[in-house]
Amino acid sequence: MITGKGLPVFSGIAEGKIFYLRKHAFKTEQNLSLPDMESEKARFSAARKAADEQLSALFEKVRSEVGEQEAMIIDVQRMMLDDPDFNDAVISRLEAGSSAEQAVDRAGQQFAEFFGNMEDAYMQARSADILDAANRLLHILNGGTAADFQLTEPCIVAADDITPSETVQLDKSRVLGIVTRLGSSHSHAAILARTLGIPTLVQAKLPDGQPLDGRMMIVDGCDGQFYIDPDEQTFDRMRQKKLDAAGRRYGLEELRGMESVTADGKKIELYANIGSVDDVQIALANDAEGIGLFRSEFLFLGRTACPSEEEQFAAYREVLEAMGGRRVIIRTMDIGADKKADYLGFAPEENPALGFRGVRVSLDYTGLFKTQLRAICRAAAFGTAAVMFPMIISVDEVRRCREMLRQVLHELAEQGVLAGNVEVGIMIETPAAVMLSEELAYEVDFFSVGTNDLTQYTLAADRQNPKVEKLYDAAHPAVLKMLSLVAQSARGAGIWAGICGELAADTRFTETLLRMGYTELSVSPAYLLELRKTVRESTMDLISKGGETE
Ligand code: PEP
Ligand code: MG
Repeated sequence: MITGKGLPVFSGIAEGKIFYLRKHAFKTEQNLSLPDMESEKARFSAARKAADEQLSALFEKVRSEVGEQEAMIIDVQRMMLDDPDFNDAVISRLEAGSSAEQAVDRAGQQFAEFFGNMEDAYMQARSADILDAANRLLHILNGGTAADFQLTEPCIVAADDITPSETVQLDKSRVLGIVTRLGSSHSHAAILARTLGIPTLVQAKLPDGQPLDGRMMIVDGCDGQFYIDPDEQTFDRMRQKKLDAAGRRYGLEELRGMESVTADGKKIELYANIGSVDDVQIALANDAEGIGLFRSEFLFLGRTACPSEEEQFAAYREVLEAMGGRRVIIRTMDIGADKKADYLGFAPEENPALGFRGVRVSLDYTGLFKTQLRAICRAAAFGTAAVMFPMIISVDEVRRCREMLRQVLHELAEQGVLAGNVEVGIMIETPAAVMLSEELAYEVDFFSVGTNDLTQYTLAADRQNPKVEKLYDAAHPAVLKMLSLVAQSARGAGIWAGICGELAADTRFTETLLRMGYTELSVSPAYLLELRKTVRESTMDLISKGGETE
């Protein structure tokens, strides 16, 4: 038996076989000698053949399951791989001494840039196809296969690290637990694990130099411990622990269906954060009173092209209908930073968290933004919808977003397309938004504080970087002071304020947040009943006198 520690991200015990997500580092050596050059050429040729086989299979699958038109997207990639100019570009790099990975990577970038600079919008969009095709080749050259994300049975997923776009490709119904060597507890992959309620460890000291695939593992997300090839005694101990946890969970069941009111009678909205349509069932199973954050960008990840208006409309409508009239807050796509959609062809950035993400992308790619707003407004006819904009730093941005929304509603009305009205809110997740909250409050219907980003920007501590994990404290006095200021600004303008960052689930601070004036808390579904219990035990009397938001 091998035991080791990691940083727990979500509690609970999971046992199952390990599925190791294979990702290998690129070869970087230059100036290969002649025989190596020949072997690199052979590797490239084999990778092309394998990519072609994968794409043919995918083409057939998409054609039969989705449709001819969607399948053409796959065919375009096949054509790219056959393109003589692309192949010549790779070969000449191989002859100049590059490894196959370097040659494919550089040629892919060069062609993507070439297409990206074309006048014609259709040709520009092909830049993403080139990158996708090149990435497929790189994946194969690095030892990957099409089966890398295909879980054939329930298992514990282990990996060096998992990106958000990789997590969306996994069949979540088969993921029992997640253990990664890298990662931080505030990353989006960790947040996703919490949404799904899966025992998860990051920064785990997994053993090096031995195959892990297929071996039994127990993940103890309560103590941050894992066991590989556990002995009988450990199995018994962990099964008992699992039973005890289930017992505690059962104790919370009596809160199901109860109102979320403080001990002194103030109604609090307890909503769930979700990242996909499927998550809404988890939210309902945990008695969510609404959806406080639908991270719509997850609809854009792990695929080869943007979801169409119809696809988005269907997704938003399904969530709204499932919530049966309860409020659903859809956050417009917060693409960028760690949530990358390769097909958009954004250049790599030095400081992605401070870069091109959130509303910055939406206001630049207005076609994408309008498509999303149209889908949201159309879906709004089927429930109680609200839209909110991420990464706001100015009043001007909010006004531009609202103007776009107004235009979309006007166009839909002119076209006679059924649409509903939406409440409009913004996320407060930058210090700029906090400092301008007094002005911003008059521009919108509500605030929702994203403490995950607000913490990283306030404390200058990257939420993705394990080295500064200790500095990243969402309850740092500076962050709490900001939260208080935001609630005060909301109250001044007569709008409601909620919190959808992870701090909302930390019951040690529930009473403090309620006393500041927050009336909505949106958390990963698994925390809802526990939070309701805490809300019902809290009082608001000290600060709420004269501090009512309604
Ligand atoms: C936040 O920043 O707190 C937030 C809820 O948004 P995300 O975690 O998706 O960045
Ligand atoms: Mg955020």
